Amino acid sequence: MSESFDIREWFKNPKELLVISGPCSVESREQLLETAAGLSEIDKVKVLRGGIWKPRTRPDAFEGIGEEGLKWMREAKEQFGLLTMTEVAVPEHVELAMKYGIDVLWVGARTVVNPFSVQELANSLKGCDVPIFVKNPIAPDVKLWLGAIERLEGAGLKYIGAIHRGFSSYDETQYRNAPLWEIPIELLRLRRDVPIITDISHICGCRELLQEVAQTALDMGTLGFMIETHNDPEHALTDANQQITPESLKKAFGKLTFRKKKFDRDEVVLQKYRKEIDEIDDELLNLIAKRMNISEKIGNFKKEHKVAVLQMDRWKSILDDHINKGTNLGLNEESVKEIFEIIHKDSIDRQL
Ligand code: PEP
Ligand code: MN
Repeated sequence: MSESFDIREWFKNPKELLVISGPCSVESREQLLETAAGLSEIDKVKVLRGGIWKPRTRPDAFEGIGEEGLKWMREAKEQFGLLTMTEVAVPEHVELAMKYGIDVLWVGARTVVNPFSVQELANSLKGCDVPIFVKNPIAPDVKLWLGAIERLEGAGLKYIGAIHRGFSSYDETQYRNAPLWEIPIELLRLRRDVPIITDISHICGCRELLQEVAQTALDMGTLGFMIETHNDPEHALTDANQQITPESLKKAFGKLTFRKKKFDRDEVVLQKYRKEIDEIDDELLNLIAKRMNISEKIGNFKKEHKVAVLQMDRWKSILDDHINKGTNLGLNEESVKEIFEIIHKDSIDRQL
């Protein structure tokens, strides 16, 4: 049995990594207790998650065990000393979760997209002191995420966190839900006071990517993880591809590199700007390469038509034009001139 952990303290000062783990869906008493037993062997795990009502894409899939599962959650808590956490999507879920003493709630990605649903949930939570996490909406919209947090604040909830679980996209990516790190970073910039943890399971969608994404999340300054675990992942009724056993989770933790300075919000914001600069530099390089390719085509054309490589009038007029445009954009005249002289010289060399 792990020592009791004060999650409200964590919200006030989230310096210790918060690890939440447990099955995607609570399926049976044995499955939950066996999984919880494994998790209770891992010091870092403080909260046992379990989906009781499952938002499924198609109506014929397993939609959760319902109220009975809450009894097993309570039993797991008593037996292993883990806090318990489940997803609530409608007021009835809130009422039942409170009735069975669930310690922490989360609002799922599909609920967060709908302000009506979030408001109804918020109304039903008035007067509850329960800590709650808001997952990002499935669409990459930081305002919708923020709006859900604000609706819960409006209901008087004081312990509100955010869970980054990636974003749905039509493009094929290696992830089930593309991480789009810039969005949680933007949330962090807007709300320094809301702790953000990372649900690597729903970002990855498969076991193979978990380790790498967990490391990236840590490097980005995440304050915790939500990770789905199951005593028999291959036979899980939901999300079988992404769940791992508690033993594998323990091994995965062993392979993570924890940085000396685990958490510095200012540094995370700085990292966002650095990432943007890197992306712009990549674009610049690509554009320069593209420009050189076109120069070579022009060079070939000039050769075929026996035209001189250096066309002084044209060069003078484009340089004047660029300096003009550059200074209008607030750039230094001398720097624009030098940049284009270098580019032009390289173009000419390629045409010779
Ligand atoms: C879940 O955590 O099992 C879940 C349904 O998550 P999400 O809302 O992120 O899809
Ligand atoms: Mn799941």
